[in-house]
Amino acid sequence: MRYLWPDYVYTPHGWQRDILVAIDEHGCIAELLSRAEVEARGLQAEAEAARGSLSGKALLPGFVNAHSHVFQRALRGQAQRPIGGHDTFWSWRQAMYAEARRLDPERLYQLACATYREMLAAGYTTVGEFHYVHHQPDGRPYAAPNLMAEALLQAARTVGIRLVILLAAYARNDFGQPALEEQRRFCDPSVAAYLERVEALRGLGVPLGLAPHSVRAVPEDWLRAIAAYSRQHQLPLHIHANEQPAEIASCLAACGCRPLVLLARCEVLGPQTTVVHATHADRTELDLLASSGARVCLCPTTEGDLGDGIPPYRELLARRIPLAIGSDSNTRLDPFEELRWAEYTARLRYGERRILVTGPEASPGAYLLTCGCEHGAAALGIESGRLEPGRLADLVAVDLEHPMLQGWTIESLLDCLFFGATAEVISAVWVSGQQVYAR
Ligand SMILES: [Zn+2]
Repeated sequence: MRYLWPDYVYTPHGWQRDILVAIDEHGCIAELLSRAEVEARGLQAEAEAARGSLSGKALLPGFVNAHSHVFQRALRGQAQRPIGGHDTFWSWRQAMYAEARRLDPERLYQLACATYREMLAAGYTTVGEFHYVHHQPDGRPYAAPNLMAEALLQAARTVGIRLVILLAAYARNDFGQPALEEQRRFCDPSVAAYLERVEALRGLGVPLGLAPHSVRAVPEDWLRAIAAYSRQHQLPLHIHANEQPAEIASCLAACGCRPLVLLARCEVLGPQTTVVHATHADRTELDLLASSGARVCLCPTTEGDLGDGIPPYRELLARRIPLAIGSDSNTRLDPFEELRWAEYTARLRYGERRILVTGPEASPGAYLLTCGCEHGAAALGIESGRLEPGRLADLVAVDLEHPMLQGWTIESLLDCLFFGATAEVISAVWVSGQQVYAR
């Protein structure tokens, strides 16, 4: 058994003081012990030793980054100058494709090591990697068909972050259009070939999800087959949808319906499903999401960077659709900033304050934390996200003496974090109870 003893612990019942966190040999939280229980069991010496550098610190569940394309980190600051005459998501995509073309397993490994380290330092203990650069630049598979995914797995092991590979399926450029030359390395020749690569990765025993890229890139028969596989094997399914109005227009033109209606028709929506973005989802689509039990992953800093639009936060909340977050293009890595952007852009959309709250008396901090931790863990099918017995000991420590937090009270601490701080207040990070970062 290992122990941590910070000043405060954020449990499902709120902040608690003087709690000894016991972590078992499997890297799970075994018990949360009060001071009286520590004394009754004669664990004072263990508790004192566990105090260590955790005096003046508060412990939170680690954040879950449910949507990342790690290689796009290389574009940070590089895609702000003019790309096309009229710069939009679509001209940015050209810069992203050029970066994707440069990748090989070694470059991907190096980029992933650096970026996953940056994620850990920001307080993300898990990343869901929506991975679509699979093959050689001309589309031919590598001798080992999952070589690029294995480079990501190796990087995660090197750095110590928990990684869930969301293996992307990609077949074409758009409805009725074959893949462009620069998309060839994303594509598998058939859904059977894609599922064979899924099976090979499952054989390695690594956490895995299925990720048909979008309704643009994956035809209906693939969507049905992938959804059936995900139900059969209880695997998470992630898909981009409704990020850009042009995608909705081409779906309407090709299929006579909007993207989430098409996904419902292909039986893609269910409790295992996470829709990434849903920025322009209409009421009918949101009703379909809610009735299916699916959740939405928002990527506010990337959606801002790309000019996607502001998601319908209030309508999502009214339908109790769980919201997770992702750093997506990795233009910023800071869960406090990511979630602050969610609340701030919601305020800009509705012209009111306090949108992401669970009730009339609540402040946003607690719900933002739930989105950043618990809903992200559920999206990736992992047992973290709450600081309670039985969950994985994926934890972050916050430095309560950091100048950015000056003036905090226990009632305002979460709001001080989300509205007044950056990830610089994170002082230490544990994954499966192993410390993987210290500032
Ligand atoms: Zn994405």
